[in-house]
Amino acid sequence: MTIAYASTPITDRIMRLSDGSDVCTYLVVGDKRALLVDTGYGFRGLRSYVESLLQGKPYDVVITHGHVDHAAGAAEFDTAYMHPADLELNVRHTTIEFRRAMLSTTSAELIADISDDAFVPTRSDFLPLEDRQTFNLGDLTVCLFHVPGHTQGMMVPVVLEERVALFGDACGVGTLIVFEEASTVTEYRESLLAFKQHEGLWDRVLRQHGTCESPKSILSTNIELCSLIMACEDDAFPAEFAGMKTLMAKAVDPVSRARIDGGEGNIMYIEEKIR
Ligand SMILES: [Zn+2]
Repeated sequence: MTIAYASTPITDRIMRLSDGSDVCTYLVVGDKRALLVDTGYGFRGLRSYVESLLQGKPYDVVITHGHVDHAAGAAEFDTAYMHPADLELNVRHTTIEFRRAMLSTTSAELIADISDDAFVPTRSDFLPLEDRQTFNLGDLTVCLFHVPGHTQGMMVPVVLEERVALFGDACGVGTLIVFEEASTVTEYRESLLAFKQHEGLWDRVLRQHGTCESPKSILSTNIELCSLIMACEDDAFPAEFAGMKTLMAKAVDPVSRARIDGGEGNIMYIEEKIR
C-alpha cells in the first residue's frame, strides 16, 4: 500500500492533511508564509505534498508535542520547531520499531507491506518553542501556548485572525494522562486553568484524531473532569491503552469510545497519576 496524501479545507486559510493513518496534520496558509502543524508518523512524501500545495510559498514546521504520531515526520524538513521539554520523548517515540508498533494497533493495513525505507529517520535538532511564541504569516498570526499535561512540551497553536485553536492531544475526548511524560491530573488541571484565561481568542476547536473537532466547551469539561478525578467522584471506568490497565473519567461505549452520557470530553488516567 502506498501513502496517499489528501487535504480538506477547514477555513479559507486552514487545511487538514491526511495520510490514511489515525492522525491528521494542519497547514495554515497566510498571504506571505505558511505553517505546517505536526508531521504524523513520518512517512516519506509529506514534504513534497505540502510544497505542491504551497507552490513556492515559504513555510515553517511546528510540532505540537514529541509523541510518535505528531513528531516522527519532522526529519523530512530543513528545520522544525518543538518545545525542548519533549526532545528526549521524541527520540524514544520516533524509532522505526516504535512507529510500526503504534501503527499496527491503529492503522495495520497501512503498513502491512511498506518497508522501513518508507519512513523518514528520527530528527533530534529541533529549533526551540516557548510559551506564546508567535509566527507571522502576513495576514495571519499563529500564537502557540504551552499547555503541559499530556506531555511536558505540549503546545497549542491558536490562529488568531481565524479564531481557531488546534488543541491536538492537549485536551480532547480521551486525553491520555498515563505515561511517564504526562503530568499528574492535579498539575494538568492547573495547566488547563491557565490556558482557559486565553479562551477569548478562539471560537472553534480542532483536534488531530477521531472527529478532529470538538465544541469549545471541551476545555471547561476537561477541567471539571480533573476536579472529579481528584475528588474520586468520577466514573473511574476501567479501560486499556497499549496493554496498560487505565481508567476513564467518564464511562464510554467499549466499541465507539463515546461517552455513555452523551457528553464530549474525557480523560484517561491511572491512579498513580492523580496527585
Ligand atoms: Zn500525544
